[in-house]
Amino acid sequence: MLALMLMLTMQTECDFRVIEGRIELPTGTHEAVAIARGKVREVGKASDMPSVPATCRTRLADDQTAFPGLTDSHVHLLGIGLREMTLNLDSARSVEDVKRALARTAEEQPEGAIIGRGWIETGWPEGRALDRRDLDEIVSDRPVLLTRADGHAMAVNTATLEAAGIDADTEDPEGGRIVRDADGQATGYLIDYAMDLVMPLMPELDVERRREALRLGAETYASRGWTSVHNMSVDGEDLPLLKELAAAGELPLRVANFVTRDAMGTVIEEGPGCDATGLVCNLGVKFYADGALGSRGALLKEPYSDEPATIGLRLLTKDDAMGVYREAASNGLQITTHAIGDQANDDILSWYGELREDFPKAVLRIEHAQIVDPVDLDRFASTGVIASMQPSHAIGDLHFAPERLGMERLRGAYAWNSLAGEGTLIVFGSDAPVEQGDPRIELYAAHVRQDLEGFSGEGWHPEEALSRAEALALFTTSPALSIGRGGSIGTLAPGFAADLSIFEGDPFAGPSQARAVATMINGRWVSGEAQ
Ligand SMILES: [Zn+2]
Repeated sequence: MLALMLMLTMQTECDFRVIEGRIELPTGTHEAVAIARGKVREVGKASDMPSVPATCRTRLADDQTAFPGLTDSHVHLLGIGLREMTLNLDSARSVEDVKRALARTAEEQPEGAIIGRGWIETGWPEGRALDRRDLDEIVSDRPVLLTRADGHAMAVNTATLEAAGIDADTEDPEGGRIVRDADGQATGYLIDYAMDLVMPLMPELDVERRREALRLGAETYASRGWTSVHNMSVDGEDLPLLKELAAAGELPLRVANFVTRDAMGTVIEEGPGCDATGLVCNLGVKFYADGALGSRGALLKEPYSDEPATIGLRLLTKDDAMGVYREAASNGLQITTHAIGDQANDDILSWYGELREDFPKAVLRIEHAQIVDPVDLDRFASTGVIASMQPSHAIGDLHFAPERLGMERLRGAYAWNSLAGEGTLIVFGSDAPVEQGDPRIELYAAHVRQDLEGFSGEGWHPEEALSRAEALALFTTSPALSIGRGGSIGTLAPGFAADLSIFEGDPFAGPSQARAVATMINGRWVSGEAQ
């Protein structure tokens, strides 16, 4: 009896498994993959695969494709989970959409403040951001706080302004702005540090809420077809929670952590590395060199084309950077720095160049690398700097980047092909929850380089779009290489972890043309199951 039960367990777990169908790698397409004890045994022709019990043989449907497990190389996992736990507005396409979603939530949740995130007015027919009048129309008796997708602004209703004591006399806090109408009244649109004024109305981010957000973020990501993330700007509090989730079998995702500057000491103390499950790795630390393009915070060499008085924000000085860079490098941490503007990228490339002399093996990377002076493009490869870029930012920014930068500077903007041509190691990601964090949007953006309606516009350099194979590599093999795991994850080859992302339809054709069907890590289904 015991033997029979063991056999049955073995069969349902399928230690040996063959998946037949369209298997697409950056290097070509195959008919089948054989998996033994969590690892790829063979990839190739269906007729060459070993025999396994029928229950462990999966035949993909004709319109399904299995890809090597996809990595999102820039996410904020906690924020992804928190967005799922509150009103998620990432698919709102107009002010009216937001109102409808808010009305539904108000009905489902009849008491307490309503919290939401994910709206962005780019491309909305109303051509404007949300303000208190929109929200008051739907909910006027309790606070409503809706954070913009980028996390740099928030729309609130009048009840929120009243509860927070914000009126015409309230001064703008340093680093923030309370947007006001012609009469000096707050419109309910709060920018950057002005959001702090209403933070007491948000639910407290205690350990329980953090754990649930991380769990839900990972579950959401697995269901979308991601097997792995590079988790950015991670708070120290999240590190033990992620390990606990992994140990309890509640983390359906590989998570490589790049912590905040504040948490660097914790990783140095523990030493960089992975937990016993191999799913959670604390690898590096992330710094900020400048702000973002949308808010004209990206640090440019020449003033903004649409605001000649500003060149953006410098958030890191060389003295400061070299001190922390050396501390991180001498303790074996990977170093990454957020740099969006061409001056910020130039600075960081120079500082990394100096650091490289003393730390020839250090892993150095730049997050975003969005606007690069064409004369600096070859310095990524020559200095050995990884460019971590976000295709969805390009197809969102194309609506306003030409105004901010002018035509000339667009030559080095989101320059995927040019950077790759110089031999740069590029990794692709979404920056969710700033973007939706959907592989169908990212693969489409990388390959098509137009917004989801097919628009691109003048000066958008369609030649910087990537081939299907290149785009796929930047979500699979390159991210694995960048974190030093190029020999064990990121592709389907003998001995590699059996991580698979299976889609119905073609994810490169955009979200309306495909659906995530099943996701596998180490030979086990972590979301869905291919039949
Ligand atoms: Zn980010």
